[in-house]
Amino acid sequence: MPQVYAYACEDERSIFHRTTIELREPADNEIYFEIKYAGICHSDIHTARGEWGPATYPLVPGHELVGVVTKVGSAVTRFQVGDKVGVGCMFASCKDCEYCRAGEEQFCNNPHAYFTYGRDAQGNPTTGGYAQGFTVREDFACRIPDSIPFETSAPLLCAGITTYSPLKRWGAGPGKKVAVLGMGGLGHMGVQIAAAMGAEVHVISHSRSKEADGLRLGASYYHASSEEGALEALASTFDVILCTVSASDLDYTAYIRALKPYGVFVDVGLPEVPASISLSALVGGNKILAGSNIGGIAETQEMLDFCAEHGIHPVVEMIGGEDITEAYNKVTASQVRYRYVIDTETFND
Ligand code: NAP
Ligand code: ZN
Repeated sequence: MPQVYAYACEDERSIFHRTTIELREPADNEIYFEIKYAGICHSDIHTARGEWGPATYPLVPGHELVGVVTKVGSAVTRFQVGDKVGVGCMFASCKDCEYCRAGEEQFCNNPHAYFTYGRDAQGNPTTGGYAQGFTVREDFACRIPDSIPFETSAPLLCAGITTYSPLKRWGAGPGKKVAVLGMGGLGHMGVQIAAAMGAEVHVISHSRSKEADGLRLGASYYHASSEEGALEALASTFDVILCTVSASDLDYTAYIRALKPYGVFVDVGLPEVPASISLSALVGGNKILAGSNIGGIAETQEMLDFCAEHGIHPVVEMIGGEDITEAYNKVTASQVRYRYVIDTETFND
């Protein structure tokens, strides 16, 4: 059994300390890889802080993990020792229900998809990416293209797919005006992906502090929602608004009004409290209010290949295990530029 270092927290205060965890040897259809880098997603923070309901502690979060394969089971065909691989939010599903067959494993209903730091089929808690290793079925691992700088690649496994999937589904592309609302870990990938898809990209951020970065990452326009009249000036402008905001104190009605007729407001942000909108703003103009939850495994690989082809990758700040606790506070304060990535080598110090 591989024993590795990991970082865990013990309660909702989310204070991380080093610990040792035991991982299983890969079964016939599984690989084991040494995690090299793990991104910190805001969902880790919502979970660890109990914002989505009680969590199970000790908790080793992390669902943006990349590493190098060191062991393969006897029936594995797609990977070999030395390959660079990544795992996102899921590690298993039935692969047989209507959703799994459609490549939408996140909606598996037999009985459900298994999420990276959650529980396994026997009900035992599982560990995530803030660790030095991971054992996974080969059909839940993705290949990291060589042309993506490996140390930046981990956030693609959640932030990348979570923005790629709705942008593709709702037709971001040439001739479309797309606004990305909130430019954090997800948002800064949404800007790059929508621009690479050929859309005219606007960033709507709550301040001007990210303007130069937004334009450099591919946006043509940048709006600060805190400025008087900023949203009113955008009425009937967008085909698609992708909302990546982690808080719910937004004027959703003003954003619905910023859509053209038939426009789509697609939300991926998951604040813990309900939001309110004016339904008349939605009805007038036949607008669509949609949600989107990560993406399937095949689409995740497609997104990785798309990013490689277009030369785009996350903008990251590298940190060590001892920095995780402080990093959580900085993410919540919108101070990260634009994703913290943990170098698991530092766990040995
Ligand atoms: P993040 O890096 O913290 O980015 C969130 C951004 O929201 C911030 O950078 C900030 O952008 C904006 N924001 C924060 N507080 C705000 C406030 N009070 N008012 C207005 N804007 C505010 O978080 P993330 O990792 O990108 O995740 C974003 C959300 O998506 C989280 O709720 C997360 O749980 C969720 N998520 C969902 C999925 C899914 O499958 N649907 C997957 C992953 C994550 P500006 O500074 O630009 O305003
Ligand atoms: Zn995530």
